[in-house]
Amino acid sequence: MVLAELGGSISRAIQQMSNATIIDEKALNECLNEITRALLQSDVQFKLVRDMQANIKKIVNLDDLAAGHNKRRIIQQAIFNELCKMLDPGKPSFIPKKGKTSVVMFVGLQGSGKTTTCTKYAYYHQKKGWKPALVCADTFRAGAFDQLKQNATKAKIPFYGSYMESDPVKIAEEGVERFKKENCDLIIVDTSGRHKQEAALFEEMRQVAEATKPDLVIFVMDSSIGQAAFDQAQAFKQSVAVGAVIVTKMDGHAKGGGALSAVAATKSPVIFIGTGEHMDEFEVFDVKPFVSRLLGMGDLSGFMDKIQEVVPMDQQPELLQMLSEGTFTLRIMYEQFQNLLKMGPIGQVFSMLPGFSSELMPKGREKESQAKIKRYMTMMDSMTNEELDSTNPKLMNESRMMRIARGSGRPLRDVIEMLDEYKRLAKVWSKMKGLKIPKKGEMSALSRNMNA
Ligand code: GDP
Repeated sequence: MVLAELGGSISRAIQQMSNATIIDEKALNECLNEITRALLQSDVQFKLVRDMQANIKKIVNLDDLAAGHNKRRIIQQAIFNELCKMLDPGKPSFIPKKGKTSVVMFVGLQGSGKTTTCTKYAYYHQKKGWKPALVCADTFRAGAFDQLKQNATKAKIPFYGSYMESDPVKIAEEGVERFKKENCDLIIVDTSGRHKQEAALFEEMRQVAEATKPDLVIFVMDSSIGQAAFDQAQAFKQSVAVGAVIVTKMDGHAKGGGALSAVAATKSPVIFIGTGEHMDEFEVFDVKPFVSRLLGMGDLSGFMDKIQEVVPMDQQPELLQMLSEGTFTLRIMYEQFQNLLKMGPIGQVFSMLPGFSSELMPKGREKESQAKIKRYMTMMDSMTNEELDSTNPKLMNESRMMRIARGSGRPLRDVIEMLDEYKRLAKVWSKMKGLKIPKKGEMSALSRNMNA
């Protein structure tokens, strides 16, 4: 992903500045100019970049910083905050609730990955116990219905569409009506795209929105669209009430900076990113970890501080040893869940691991999350030692999963969800490989480790 290059350029600019003997106005300006150049090269809109630069200069008043202040850290923090601000316009206009019917309409240009993303979004929620359904109101692109039908069938998600009917409004209305009756809690409407933004597309979108009254409109954008992102996103926003953005193809060679501009244009947050063609190549988008990664400063900085703060000195080496090996088995996950539930010092540390708690234990939903973790542990109790200690993902075939489901009295769906969670955490864990405790305030060791 070229965004990683952007991150690299920004980190280098900060590094260069801190290598300067004195961090004065000149050094700061050079650093900011470097960052500006990197952002523009990544297709972030000019005005956004200019505003960001001005804001950082306002925040970092070098005259006020007494000698001895860690200027580099303060500047890095200011850059971090500004990038987060740029990417975080707040919550989506609506957040669907499990068990309560919501209609979510997807809009975007043809080829942006809209149809694929509709299914990914449905599949993601289905795995979390929702009852999603898909409605194909794309009558413009031949084959759109077939594609949706195929994906939906594979994921066992109910769908609605027609080969005969050419009126997208009628199909959308009928589909939504039907799935409301069937008590689906997430009715997803895929609409037509066109190659270009044109009046007919927007008119059709408006009509579908009027007929289905979506609770949330999601704008799907291909990360490779570059500088055109801002105008495109704005044009969509002007026609329908876009409330959230999903950026696709983040796995490709796109510069990705356009995504930052789209957020600003729609004033809506990116809620997921697409990272591949497969159904499960879909990730929740969290601004802070994303920007940390981008800057190479690592969400790990907080994590390492926390280790030093809360874990008794004599236990630190053992903990780091385990982390640095980078192998994450189901048994380790089990043990970490025990720690997490106890909320002892190590539990606190793990709740700070990037990606460990943001999805697993979101703030405000602790009770629900604890129940989920206990459920996962019950299922793991039905596993053999071989399964718990294995690092071979192929070991968990369907018959093993069925046995675990039976043994723990949980549906197969729950076992799949638990194993998915394991895969996700294993990915996070693998980034810890080779981690060393830095001396206080030493960030560069972390940066090297986080250059993911
Ligand atoms: P639509 O015209 O907007 O409905 O787009 P489609 O859903 O048909 O997607 C267009 C192409 O992009 C297809 O070949 C998809 O497999 C591909 N695609 C969609 N999302 C992603 C993604 O996140 N990564 C990659 N690599 N390809 C994607």
